[in-house]
Amino acid sequence: MEGSTAHPRTRPTVLVVGGGYAGVTAAKALDDVADVTLVEPKDAFVHNVAALRALVAPQWLPKIFLPYDHLLENGHVVRDQVVRLGGASER
Ligand SMILES: Cc1cc2nc3c(=O)[nH]c(=O)nc-3n(C[C@H](O)[C@H](O)[C@H](O)COP(=O)(O)OP(=O)(O)OC[C@H]3O[C@@H](n4cnc5c(N)ncnc54)[C@H](O)[C@@H]3O)c2cc1C
Repeated sequence: MEGSTAHPRTRPTVLVVGGGYAGVTAAKALDDVADVTLVEPKDAFVHNVAALRALVAPQWLPKIFLPYDHLLENGHVVRDQVVRLGGASER
């Protein structure tokens, strides 16, 4: 039935470069509607905003390092650094 399927046959493919606040937000927002690949060299998201609090309250440290392992339900995270992007004509 048109427009009612939860998993349309053709999903866009999205590459998100960098898993900072912007990249994580974009990747999670698109995870249900696109085939998302997030490329990030670090193994965990660092919650900068809470870093100063963690300096004075070390028990907060686990709260500011959030591993990327379980970030996406459908897409996946590649632990690497993007060094070059090419268009379809360069494949
Ligand atoms: C200690 C500290 C405290 C802060 N506190 C606040 C605050 O209280 N309020 C506030 O609004 N802002 C705060 N900021 C600023 C805030 O952290 C930044 O504005 C925010 O991180 C920017 O988010 P971003 O996603 O654009 O970039 P970033 O967080 O810089 O993320 C970029 C990501 O891309 C990855 N990356 C880079 N190059 C590549 C590549 N070639 N391939 C793959 N991955 C790549 C990096 O590893 C990184 O994970 C703070 C910053 C710091 C350092």
